Amino acid sequence: MSEVLTLECRKLARSFTEGGLNVQVLKGIDFQVKRGDQIAVVGASGSGKSTLLHLLGGLDRPSGGEVFIMGKSLSTLNESARGRLRNRALGFVYQFHHLLPEFTALENVAMPLLIRGSAPRESKDRAGVILERVGLSERLRHKPGELSGGERQRAAIARALVTEPACLLADEPTGNLDRQTANRVFDLMLELNDELGTSLLVVTHDPNLSQRMSRVMHLVDGALRENGAGVQPSV
Ligand code: ADP
Ligand code: MG
Repeated sequence: MSEVLTLECRKLARSFTEGGLNVQVLKGIDFQVKRGDQIAVVGASGSGKSTLLHLLGGLDRPSGGEVFIMGKSLSTLNESARGRLRNRALGFVYQFHHLLPEFTALENVAMPLLIRGSAPRESKDRAGVILERVGLSERLRHKPGELSGGERQRAAIARALVTEPACLLADEPTGNLDRQTANRVFDLMLELNDELGTSLLVVTHDPNLSQRMSRVMHLVDGALRENGAGVQPSV
């Protein structure tokens, strides 16, 4: 039996109406993410990278085509089933951490488990383990405002990975970090990819990071093109 694809889209299209004009951002993308894949998505600002990630993560609806998460077509699921599939299969990291300011690091990271109905004690235990994994065992009771930028981003990655998702979708996760911290955050994603088989789909402007991934996809004119591993497109 062939393995179920982590993510897939077929003829994926998205257009927006802006000032009476219909702008086609994605023009029929066919794309597959397999278990353990490391994929960097690069492209000019405004080329549709975030739009693509939102569609693949089930956070936005396509204008045409279809998205499959773990082999299930999103268009066949109702809102709550889609939410459950997303919660079970995917983890998200954004450029800005989106941690809840009034909760501690431990509570923030435990949240996705609590949302899916895990017991509070077990959720906090697992949150503690993954926070230790990202080097934040001394920061469990700190609130986001009491953490550095790099620590906040590592907490956000811990929150995305605490459910052991099949795929991590990250939109410029190191965009706000200095080089050394960005490298450390990236190391962590690659380690978890290696240990858990988590697929990585990472939008990044940083060639130092994209060249460390096994596949680099270039989004241009609404189409996704494969570049050789580690090869940067000329812009
Ligand atoms: P990137 O992440 O590559 O910088 P985006 O996916 O954010 O690009 O945006 C791609 C294009 O789609 C841009 O021209 C942007 O203005 C447009 N766009 C994105 N989201 C919306 C929206 N909700 N409404 C209207 N236009 C949008
Ligand atoms: Mg973007």
